[in-house]
Amino acid sequence: MKDRNANKESLRIAEAGAGISGSEPQGATYRQSRTPLEAQGEPPPALASEEDRQLDYSLRPHSLAEFVGQERIKKVLGMSIAAARQRGEALDHVLFSAPPGLGKTSLAHIIARELGVNLRVTSGPAIERAGDLAAIVSDLNQGDVLFIDEIHRLARVVEEILYPAMEDFELNIVVGSGLGARTMKLSVKPFTMIGATTRSGLLSSPLRDRFGQHYHLDFYAPTDLTQIIQRSAHLLGVRIDDEGAGELAARSRGTPRIANRLLRRVRDFAQVNEASVVTREVALGALELLEIDACGFDKMDRAILAAIIDKFDGGPVGVDTLAAAVGEESDTIGDVYEPYLLQEGFIARTARGRVATQRAYAHLNRTRPGTLL
Ligand code: ADP
Repeated sequence: MKDRNANKESLRIAEAGAGISGSEPQGATYRQSRTPLEAQGEPPPALASEEDRQLDYSLRPHSLAEFVGQERIKKVLGMSIAAARQRGEALDHVLFSAPPGLGKTSLAHIIARELGVNLRVTSGPAIERAGDLAAIVSDLNQGDVLFIDEIHRLARVVEEILYPAMEDFELNIVVGSGLGARTMKLSVKPFTMIGATTRSGLLSSPLRDRFGQHYHLDFYAPTDLTQIIQRSAHLLGVRIDDEGAGELAARSRGTPRIANRLLRRVRDFAQVNEASVVTREVALGALELLEIDACGFDKMDRAILAAIIDKFDGGPVGVDTLAAAVGEESDTIGDVYEPYLLQEGFIARTARGRVATQRAYAHLNRTRPGTLL
């Protein structure tokens, strides 16, 4: 159902007089705020560093066929892309939700490419004013794709411009101020909005409801990650055998960006150690140096588990308290570390906070209080 209230929320360009004002946003801003670890030169596992961003770009799959895994999503998306092309209409708006590094941006690029239209990329935090977004939307051609990364971080006034734009392809612009103020409706060409978020729960329901398609990307199975690593190795000219790729895949936290990052590190390790092929031994040598354990956990994952167990008696502990205890930002814990620890059953979320599970105790060689020896 349409939320007509949303149309009351118009773009105010009061003092500007007329037309659309506001500078263009800074284009793609994939990064989230800098975290303490990143400030030390080491980014959290799935967030893109500058180096990753370049690698992401060169390794990004260019078609649905090249995009590994997520079979159901590819099937449904492929169908709606084909149908939209046949009808000559803009594709229904798409929302992707997933932790960082699972392929949301790649899919946005693929959709635009398969539709044969232009892609405009920006991100929630980069759009500061309503006028910035209005300028972008009014500049789109028929059927173009507008990709907004971290859409849950859009300012409310900016978000409200989107409602009529997504629903009726209209911008409501308030011209003038006080008694003389009037609303002008400006038509824009039908376009497709693709939103990406690591926190779909933070999206307001009016915004979420305006997406015709919502896909949640799951962590990848080791077999998919092995395939991704082999593809990336081929593109980077790295020789890797099946066991080497399998070992990296098993320690990539279900995340393609991490798999690619590990591959890059292993490539360096192999080169320095004059290994012409990345075998299981070479991979293990590099992973040990990187302090990545058999579950793919790094120092911070282990610090989080150890803090819950040692400092908070196994929990429950709130995410802010936990963040302070390990010296990391709560958003990074919530977006990057927690989803995988939860999915793998090392922590559990309760109404009163996070608790460590038996798996966490076993992984850190701790005995759970009350456990019979
Ligand atoms: P997100 O936008 O979710 O943070 P990206 O789309 O930027 O993630 O993906 C990070 C990198 O991981 C990409 O550049 C690409 O190299 C790789 N990647 C992600 N998903 C896949 C996939 N399904 N198949 C192959 N490579 C992938």
